[in-house]
Amino acid sequence: MKITEIRGHHVGFAPSPAIGNARTMIRRRDFLLLEIVTDTGKSGWGEVFSSPDAAAALIRMRYAPLVLGQSPARYRALWEQMAGNLGYDRRGPAMMAISAIDMALCDLAAQDLGVSVAAMLGGALREQVFAYGSGPFIVETRDPFAHYATEVERCLAQGYRAVKPRAGVSPRADGAMLASLRRQVGPEIALMVDINQAYSARAAIASARLMEASDLLWIEEPVEPDDIPGYAAVAAAVTTAVAGGEALASAAAFRDFLVAGTLSILQPDLTVCGGYTGFLRIAALAAAFDLPIMPHVFGTIVNHQAALQIAGLLPARRGGGPASYPYVEVDVSTNPLLALQGAVKPNADGTLDIPDRPGTGLDLTAERLEPWRRESWICR
Ligand SMILES: [Mg+2]
Repeated sequence: MKITEIRGHHVGFAPSPAIGNARTMIRRRDFLLLEIVTDTGKSGWGEVFSSPDAAAALIRMRYAPLVLGQSPARYRALWEQMAGNLGYDRRGPAMMAISAIDMALCDLAAQDLGVSVAAMLGGALREQVFAYGSGPFIVETRDPFAHYATEVERCLAQGYRAVKPRAGVSPRADGAMLASLRRQVGPEIALMVDINQAYSARAAIASARLMEASDLLWIEEPVEPDDIPGYAAVAAAVTTAVAGGEALASAAAFRDFLVAGTLSILQPDLTVCGGYTGFLRIAALAAAFDLPIMPHVFGTIVNHQAALQIAGLLPARRGGGPASYPYVEVDVSTNPLLALQGAVKPNADGTLDIPDRPGTGLDLTAERLEPWRRESWICR
């Protein structure tokens, strides 16, 4: 099997109403979906959600010539070749470009073997993985949390047993919102909170202390994603686990955080950290520090399906919640690109099935992307 074409599909939509976190209001969500095509007519898919246009330029100019004509079964050798060509851009769009390519190559290599990606990478440890509803999100009203009770109720009705609302408005508002949610859901439902990089370390500590009584599983991205001293200060001052790493693109970046004693939970994103190959390097590092690792996902069905595959491979760790880690994040906002194979809905016990079909179990064609297409290109 040889790679004959690399197709870039730039897709996106405008959430209406805009969804927000403590750092920003999201008015537009754009993605690069990368389709790598072979001489057997098979397609493998990858994704970039953070800097899709920059990553696309790097794929077209720098990485396509390395990959065209090659066999997807050489995904690991190709990863080393691409990563050896990062130049000065070691933790940014170049690694996102490599991420999308690695995701697509592994999808193709597994399809060619007739097995799932998890099976190709050594075999899944589980058939289901615990899911959590990522939301609700902040809205532009006087009380940014006013709709949270209703939306959390909707998540529980969909089957989620764990919910991660956005916080970071003010320590007092965070504390009151979480206390009210804990009263609403009772002791058995897991609650986590995402600050989305918004606070100073001092404010994050104040907020964490006011949320402590609400029994959170973790506080995510409390401060700037590269503020290692800030993370260390928060981790030392609060009892709740500190989670993060969705913005970190390499094992070296995670190494710096772990050596500084910052994170209790690692959350690499497959589309940022180098695809499956990059993720597994970070998973080895997590194992060396005996820390739980789970995928961050906030994108389309492509990253969602890939996250299920990688979650199948990660060791189980007890984090104090209703199920052992890893958990898989599911965006519960209105996201048509996540719903391309139908709405994602957990089983009654709050888990999602890990597909055991060839590749990632993705059933996607370029035609299905038409309503959201902004631009496309082909390298051959
Ligand atoms: Mg997050």
